[in-house]
Amino acid sequence: MKQDSPLLAVPVLVPMPAERPYTYAVPAGMHVEPGSIVRVPLGPRQVAGIVWDSACETVDAKKLRPIEQVFDCPPIGKEMRRFVDWIAAYTLSPPGMVARMILRAPEAFDPEPWIEGLVRTDSEPDRMTGARARVLEMASDGLAWTRSGLAHAAGVSSTVIDGLKAQGVFETAMIPPRPVVAAPDPSFAATVLTGDQEKAAASLRESGAKGAFGVTLIDGVTGSGKTEVYFEAVAAALEKGRQVLILLPEIALTQAFLERFQDRFGAKPAEWHSDLAPRMREKVWRQVAEGGVRVVAGARSALFLPFRELGLIVVDEEHDPAYKQEDRVFYNARDMAVVRAHIGDFPVVLASATPSVESRVNASQGRYARVALPARFAEAALPDIKAIDMRRAPPARGGFLSPVLVGHISETLARGEQSLLFLNRRGYAPLTLCRVCGHRFQCPDCSAWLVEHRFRGQLVCHHCGHNEKRPEACPECGALDHLVACGPGVERIAEEVVGHFPDARTIVLSSDIMGGVKRLRLELEAIAKGEAEIVIGTQLVAKGHNFPNMTLVGVVDADLGLANGDPRAAERTFQLLSQVTGRAGRTGKKSLGLLQTFQPDHPVMRAIVSGDSEAFYEREIVEREKAGLPPFGRLAGIIVSAATRAEAEAHARQLRRAAPAASDIHVLGPAEAPLALIGGRHRFRLLVQGGRRSDMQVFLRAMLAGGPKLRGSVRVQVDIDPQSF
Ligand code: ADP
Ligand code: ZN
Repeated sequence: MKQDSPLLAVPVLVPMPAERPYTYAVPAGMHVEPGSIVRVPLGPRQVAGIVWDSACETVDAKKLRPIEQVFDCPPIGKEMRRFVDWIAAYTLSPPGMVARMILRAPEAFDPEPWIEGLVRTDSEPDRMTGARARVLEMASDGLAWTRSGLAHAAGVSSTVIDGLKAQGVFETAMIPPRPVVAAPDPSFAATVLTGDQEKAAASLRESGAKGAFGVTLIDGVTGSGKTEVYFEAVAAALEKGRQVLILLPEIALTQAFLERFQDRFGAKPAEWHSDLAPRMREKVWRQVAEGGVRVVAGARSALFLPFRELGLIVVDEEHDPAYKQEDRVFYNARDMAVVRAHIGDFPVVLASATPSVESRVNASQGRYARVALPARFAEAALPDIKAIDMRRAPPARGGFLSPVLVGHISETLARGEQSLLFLNRRGYAPLTLCRVCGHRFQCPDCSAWLVEHRFRGQLVCHHCGHNEKRPEACPECGALDHLVACGPGVERIAEEVVGHFPDARTIVLSSDIMGGVKRLRLELEAIAKGEAEIVIGTQLVAKGHNFPNMTLVGVVDADLGLANGDPRAAERTFQLLSQVTGRAGRTGKKSLGLLQTFQPDHPVMRAIVSGDSEAFYEREIVEREKAGLPPFGRLAGIIVSAATRAEAEAHARQLRRAAPAASDIHVLGPAEAPLALIGGRHRFRLLVQGGRRSDMQVFLRAMLAGGPKLRGSVRVQVDIDPQSF
């Protein structure tokens, strides 16, 4: 290849809704290679893009706009580029929008600057003082220090350092950027595994030793040691000199995980999630690309970090809905982790106490290996779980807690232990209405009721964030003081708890807490230390936390998730209830889970109460198979939205008519989407259902190509493998 030829051109993928890379000229003397990150002009702007393929000679290079700059940054590897193309094709997203997810830390494309520091020379100071002696003692390690760092460490003023430097006792040295985390040591503190754990770990090591693609599902109850077991796979990958990615659904809130990792490997993993400070994001991105960071614990977006030698992905809580992104590029990080591992030809580990039906079926059909951990570690016993039949044990008037549950909270308090009341609903009440005229407060922009948040004195839409002050009078009929709150949210449960136990220390935890993630972390730590006696929380307390003194979990409304018509509702509810009751009894103490339900005979309640999940899974799997639903069939949703209902509906109807003829795929709808109005946009949905082997993507592409042109406010979004259907 003639790098200095003026007639070279390369395709560059820019982070825009671009269907394909654009071609740019390579100026004479510039060196680019596939994967290079470059700055290119795009319209009036300049953007960072990725060189997508090799350069080739062209006669037209003079007509092309030139690349402005090649960043001094490791190129995006071939595996990663294939991954982007694969996701784009699978999700029917423009490749540019997928590439955009890689290019999320623009400041990281330039190398981190070295900072000026000082090192000790051979010279001695003319005269020794106490302060000088302390400085020399600190600096005797021979390492480079910053001026202020050394002054601080020695407890002297910076002028003392300046004086020594003036005498030649120190000289200037440049200090490279600090690693964000130290290197993990695979043999730092290996855990002695139990028999079952060892069997599971051996199976992981075996597939790890091959180093080739393979999926293993670790299926084990909460507290059985899944984490300990997959740490073995992590150690094996590190020993082979490979980087590791551990995906966790709520990494920002599971800081305890980082410490646990440190106990095992002597250093923390790098974190990656949306609450990371921008400077830290850039450092992590850069050091992952350079290979300095060996292990990342991250949210789903960590899949798009530019690893140079990734050799293992672990997806913890693989069933978790948080792995699904439903914004711009719709993807499920669990499934894409498997794809990424396939492309890179390395193993992937999925872990869960309540695997997704998809993963269970993949395991039973032999596509995934499955290792089971049936019992909790050591003396920790699973909580005893009982259903409270709310038809027989109704709460006191105006309340939501059955006397049975209140009685158990009281006993738990008396023993000095903690209770958790779980209700997956933020705020005070999900619906407010006027007792006089029946007026209900609805979001002006969404088909949703406004939720009262009493602490803030507001009515809030949980879909678009619209909020208004809670009025005194009904806006419809003007009646004063006749607004009633219907149904409970966590704030209301807290109010009831305080009524019963005015002296207990209670904490309400939900994602809208004032103070954001920082405050949430502190609260979670406080709970783990036993500083609250009664915790009332939404699903964010259900995930991954270890509260040693928590011996009672009460689910306020176990039926809540079953109400909607979604075929996945039972699976989700089962997973959530298992997870939240699993917060109890993590240490030796006897513990109890109580489910308040109006349907104690529902298969979900039975499975949770009996602890026999097998029967539940079997039944779910049979139902899915009968209905031809995933994983026995394929599904895609097409959401058509527009500023007016008529526009959205008309477009959806025309789109449907563009569906090609196919024997194994059919289209349902259009019908109003489950949330027909969000943020002022009207939404219609088409559901495309196909057989397991049908080529959904070809079908959808033909349909979209044959459909009407996008006009006015109309937008079309394809949701492959939708969460709800
Ligand atoms: P899971 O991931 O299945 O919920 P964990 O790996 O978190 O289970 O284990 C539960 C608890 O038991 C943790 O505190 C863990 O440190 C401890 N534990 C599990 N296995 C062992 C072991 N072999 N040796 C020491 N502690 C263990
Ligand atoms: Zn709204």
